[in-house]
Amino acid sequence: MSTDVYFSSIQERSRTDCFRTLLKHIDGMLSQFKKGSFVGIKMTVGDKKNTGYIKPDLVKILVENLKRRGAKPFVFDTNVIYKGQRQNAVDHLNLAYKKGFTPDRLGCPFIIADSVFGTDSTIVKVDYKNIKELRVPSLVRVLEDLIVLSHITGHIMSGYAASIKNVGMGMASRAGKQIQHSSMKPLIDAANCTLCGCCIENCPVSAISEMRGKAYINSERCIGCGECIACCKFDAVHIHWHEDESVFGERMVEYASGILSHIKRKVFMDFAFDITEECDCISGNDPKVAEDAGIFASTDILAADKAAFDMLTKSMDMFSRDGKIRIHAHQFEYAEKTGLGKLNYKLVEVI
Ligand code: SF4
Ligand code: SF4
Repeated sequence: MSTDVYFSSIQERSRTDCFRTLLKHIDGMLSQFKKGSFVGIKMTVGDKKNTGYIKPDLVKILVENLKRRGAKPFVFDTNVIYKGQRQNAVDHLNLAYKKGFTPDRLGCPFIIADSVFGTDSTIVKVDYKNIKELRVPSLVRVLEDLIVLSHITGHIMSGYAASIKNVGMGMASRAGKQIQHSSMKPLIDAANCTLCGCCIENCPVSAISEMRGKAYINSERCIGCGECIACCKFDAVHIHWHEDESVFGERMVEYASGILSHIKRKVFMDFAFDITEECDCISGNDPKVAEDAGIFASTDILAADKAAFDMLTKSMDMFSRDGKIRIHAHQFEYAEKTGLGKLNYKLVEVI
């Protein structure tokens, strides 16, 4: 059996019209969000220089739709593990406000789910091939209603990024994000380290000690949990982005599966506008790698991502640079095997 994926083409119309048309046709999907329910809208505002993110004026259309149903929507994201303005909630929120994600423009609050320093990280037991414990903000454990808005882009590790990445990586706490990158080990930047001792105290396997007046990580002992990255306030713990990319994709799928299995009502929307080679965490105003197509929506995260991928790569796989076709193909297959969703979908074009 196939899953319906609704598609609203951008054609000659504005993005606002394109989105309104989609929402009109997925009313049945949205009717699962009832009066009084707290609906978390997961999205990202992107890095400081990034311009391709989904704009607040579009998000507001969805917020108003949910409010008319009596629901209580809020927009949320989590802190990231690499340098930049989204590493803690204060800088993250200030950046979001600067990009227009204010309560006025959105019609609802914008929340950073894993607290000021990204330390709100609870453990959820799972049993996947690579991951046995999820580390997620406590909000993610109790959330029952979720809408995921994802800007489709390329990705440095997996070649292609949409809803699976937005959930698997984007809804994990900083420690959870680090675990997904766990074959790489963090290193201390001695120039920034003040030897405050926070990482030494918090490392669960005592992999950090003092050496010549600075913190030092024993990479043999390190399990890549990310606690030191989360607790360092001096930007002295750095990550090295090299690891087995297939395993990275599998871990992300396992995180997405584990997170979504606890959430009762969910809808995924993938926005195929301003598609760049890198994701919104990295790219600035980069050249587009594909024409704008429109917006996809489904209750099945895998079907939504696959339908968007198939349409964008009809004539050529633009997400396959550096041999990454093998990686996202594996990720899709693994996602179906893990029970995340279905690869077989029916595209329903709405006008
Ligand atoms: S938390 Fe940061 S500043 Fe403090 S000792 Fe560790 S690396 Fe150094
Ligand atoms: S990533 Fe975790 S295990 Fe590794 S040094 Fe940091 S706190 Fe310790």
